[in-house]
Amino acid sequence: MSEENAARDLRVVIIGAGMAGLLSAIELRKAGITDYVIYEKADRLGGTWRENRYPGIACDVPSHFYCYSFAPNPDWSHQFSPGAEIQAYFENVARTYGVDREIRFGEEITRCEFVDGRWRITTKGGSEDEADVVIAATGVLHHPNIPEIPGLETFEGSSFHSARWEEALPLDGKRVGVIGTGSTGVQIVSALVDRVAKVSLFQRTAQWVLRQENPAFSDAEKAAFRAHPEQIEAIREEASEMFAQGFANAVIDPDSEQLRGIEEACRQNLEETVTDPELRERLRPDYRAACKRLVISPDFYESIQKPTAELVTDEIERVEPSGIRTRDGRLHELDVIVLATGFRADRFMRPMEIISRSGKRLDEIWAQRPSAYLSISVPDLPNFFMLNGPNGPVGNFSLIEIAELQFGYIMQLVDMIRSAKCREISASAAATSNFDAERVEAAKSTIWTTGCRSWYLDDRGIPATWPWTFDRFREEMSAPDLDDYDCID
Ligand code: NAP
Repeated sequence: MSEENAARDLRVVIIGAGMAGLLSAIELRKAGITDYVIYEKADRLGGTWRENRYPGIACDVPSHFYCYSFAPNPDWSHQFSPGAEIQAYFENVARTYGVDREIRFGEEITRCEFVDGRWRITTKGGSEDEADVVIAATGVLHHPNIPEIPGLETFEGSSFHSARWEEALPLDGKRVGVIGTGSTGVQIVSALVDRVAKVSLFQRTAQWVLRQENPAFSDAEKAAFRAHPEQIEAIREEASEMFAQGFANAVIDPDSEQLRGIEEACRQNLEETVTDPELRERLRPDYRAACKRLVISPDFYESIQKPTAELVTDEIERVEPSGIRTRDGRLHELDVIVLATGFRADRFMRPMEIISRSGKRLDEIWAQRPSAYLSISVPDLPNFFMLNGPNGPVGNFSLIEIAELQFGYIMQLVDMIRSAKCREISASAAATSNFDAERVEAAKSTIWTTGCRSWYLDDRGIPATWPWTFDRFREEMSAPDLDDYDCID
């Protein structure tokens, strides 16, 4: 039989129409696989950019780098563009590549079961599907972390998580409390401070803030990008190099010159921008920069010093009908409470029920914590691949660059199935546990373990992220080591 004849026609189900799901659809089509569908539980594509629509939302990865390599955009308004523009970019790319027509909106997959060599898929609405390959592109920071603050339900104003922003709610002239000082809380405070009567930022832990100006691109610059796409390519290469060498290498080596540079820049920002010594000390973290995900802002310190802003560092005792009571006994009267309290980073594609070849549920497989070989494949889940899965590079990177590299790797596994070299392929248990052991060992000497609480840390306090250089990630993603896979032909 010729190679051609041996090839199987595959049906692929993609879960999620965010950045990674759209990427998968576009790349599958380029590779000649046309029998695929994207299931999306919401009524709109865009993933994190659809869900996060709070005032001030922007991406702190440069816009020309935070986009697909095959779909540059000369029209970005700013070096770091606002969320709505990024959402529009994904909608535009989906239209251009025709994948918007391949999305089943409002269809939440509740169950995937591997039966007789194929994945049986069930949706909340009760429809059924089958696939040879499943690509889970369900996002990392997706499940809001709702804090257990006594009395939260008694609040008489509006209260919501930052990823569930009530867009119709008028904010002008209101008293707004923001709980949480991560990237989200900081962006919200800067966006609201000139609009509201008062914004009170409830800080449990101070954050290091790296200053980063955000200039707009002029019309002439945009015209030049349009006429000379190589200029965009040059910016992308520079940004990729900067993130790989300057950031990825810094966070895995707390003694590196790069990390010292980041620390010094954060310290200088604090010292030089915050004039009131008492406020400055309350804003000064007691752990090293980049231990938590670094916050990047052009103006947070300016914003928090404005007369309409207040930094509250007394611990929250409870929420009362009219506001937040702190431990010092003070009642902070509020009209709105925003929970900028982050996400449950360990959930991934759950609560979807995923049943393995041997009949185990993913919840059992991940009973202790999520793990996956190279964050892509789980033993006993054949032909099921994840984009931005557990323990991959996260944080201050372009998740788009990461997803593209991961997809290139996944496509090579899909080709093994397509060419009938393997009917079923998944990482071996041995390779997965070796990978995890090596990863955990390496993670112990990263900046993330130097004494702070963060969403990077798992239940043991081990960072659930890629602990090696970005070059190593690129190298690993260039081709699968098939010795690490169980292949049933
Ligand atoms: P986050 O970084 O996890 O921060 C959550 C904040 O809520 C922390 O300050 C945390 O305090 C606080 N918090 C949680 N529970 C609390 C409680 N019970 N009482 C008081 N405070 C509480 O979440 P995020 O700011 O939403 O950001 C999540 C990630 O999204 C970021 O790390 C980043 O990767 C991504 N993001 C990126 C951008 C961007 O521009 N690219 C923008 C926004 C978000 P502790 O520090 O004390 O735990």
